Amino acid sequence: MMFQLPKRLLPDYAQEQAEYIFCSRCRYVNKASHRFCTNCGIPQADGEQEQLLYNIREKQRKESLGRSEYNVRVARITLYVLAALCLTGTAIVLSDLDERYIWGVLCLTGAVLYAILGRWSVHRPFTALLVSLVVVGTFTSVSILSKPEKTFTTLEGTYAFVFFLIIMVLLGRGVKSAFQADLTKEEMEVL
Ligand SMILES: [Zn+2]
Repeated sequence: MMFQLPKRLLPDYAQEQAEYIFCSRCRYVNKASHRFCTNCGIPQADGEQEQLLYNIREKQRKESLGRSEYNVRVARITLYVLAALCLTGTAIVLSDLDERYIWGVLCLTGAVLYAILGRWSVHRPFTALLVSLVVVGTFTSVSILSKPEKTFTTLEGTYAFVFFLIIMVLLGRGVKSAFQADLTKEEMEVL
C-alpha cells in the first residue's frame, strides 16, 4: 500500500522537488520515481519484476543469515569444548602435581568462564564472542610469551599453538558472523 503525501506536509526541500511518497513498510520518505525503498528495499511500484527482484534479495538475506548463524553456533560449541577441556584439566591436575591447587583453581575458573561466555553468546552473540576472542587471545599470548622456546621447539608446544590458532579462527569467524547477522536482521526487520 502506498501513501501519497500532501505537499504542504513535506519538508521544504521536498516541496521544491518532485513527488515524494512514504514507504508503506518503514515510513521512509522516497522519491516517487524510485522503484525500491532506499531504506528497507521493498518495491515502491506494484510491478511483477520489482516483486521478483525483491523476493530474490530477501532469499539472499535469509541464506546469508543462515550461514552467519551457523558460524556463531560453531563458535559457541568451541567455547563449550574449551570449558569441557578445562574441566577435564581440573580432574587430571587434582590427581597429581605439586602446584595442583593453583592449577586446579585456574582450570576450574577457565571452565566456568568459557561456559558462561558460551551461554552469553546465545543472547548477545557479537559481544560475547568478541570478549571470548580477547580472553582466549590474551591467555594464548601470555602462555606463549612466558615459554616461547617450549612453544616452537617441542611437539606438544606446537600442537597447543595450532590448537589455539584454530580456536581463534573459529571465534573470529563467529564474531564477524554475529556482526553480519545483526546487520542482516536489521535490514529484514519489519517496523
Ligand atoms: Zn522502506
